Amino acid sequence: MGTIVPDLDLVVSEIADEMRARTDRGAVAHYIPELARVDASQFGLAVIDADGNAAVGGDADIPFSIQSISKVFTLTLALGRYGDRLWRRVGREPSGSPFNSIVQLEREQGVPRNPFINAGAIAVTDLILSGHQPREALGEILSFVRFLADDETISIDEAVAASEQRTGFRNAALANYMKSFGVLENPVELTLGVYFHQCAIAMSCKQLAMAGRFLAKSGRNPSTGLQVIQPERARRINAVMLTCGHYDGSGEFAYRVGLPGKSGVGGGIFAVAPGKASIAVWSPGLDAAGNSHLGRIALEALSKRMNWSIFGA
Ligand code: GLU
Repeated sequence: MGTIVPDLDLVVSEIADEMRARTDRGAVAHYIPELARVDASQFGLAVIDADGNAAVGGDADIPFSIQSISKVFTLTLALGRYGDRLWRRVGREPSGSPFNSIVQLEREQGVPRNPFINAGAIAVTDLILSGHQPREALGEILSFVRFLADDETISIDEAVAASEQRTGFRNAALANYMKSFGVLENPVELTLGVYFHQCAIAMSCKQLAMAGRFLAKSGRNPSTGLQVIQPERARRINAVMLTCGHYDGSGEFAYRVGLPGKSGVGGGIFAVAPGKASIAVWSPGLDAAGNSHLGRIALEALSKRMNWSIFGA
């Protein structure tokens, strides 16, 4: 007797319907004023399977602010440019701290725990900026995302970038603090300018799931057949997502969902079922750790119904 493979289209549309009906939605991020204006009732889910078929549900075509999910793309780019030397600048251990914590940085002489907390991501962006003008560095990041998603329409939401630039006092503190330890090479305001703009890239769930296909397929873009990065590197990026992708909610996410993933305060979560699917979910309301409340619940349901947890059935 063969095992019954659940129908992905059906599962995705069921989950989208279930999430739409829920009233517990978490709270939208308020510390970036432009994000506080987003309608919290939206929900989108997109899954691209190993053969390139897309299953979408809800508001999967509405662009949202990817925020910290951009850190997966900048990490990939910086690893391409610097290889393992990158790990001299930033660690790869879970932080167990909030995304914008400064306490750990002091104890560890300005070297951030991992590339997905804000300090670590700012250090990675600083590496990408070195030797370039901010405009060029940002162009490189945006072109890379467009290339991965195979979609030239992806753009930056300037209002979100300006909003964060005006109010990003915590990130400015983190960056200045790292600069004092010599961890950043470029002027703080330039590095932060690139960082705020990369976070303000707007993508739909569909575009995000498309962009992440290479991580589900051992570094290969399944539609072009191009090897974007080596399989070993894809595996390692997935490992860092699993252990560090959800700030101090990373353990809970691994426990409940069982997939590598990266969240953003715009309410998006990108996740990978290795060898099986690239997944993006979006619901703007966040839980206490700053991760999408319904996004996590939807991914838990998806992973369970499709039997995709990397830890077994
Ligand atoms: N741009 C946001 C910040 O730096 C990203 C945080 C997040 O998405 O978790 O505060």
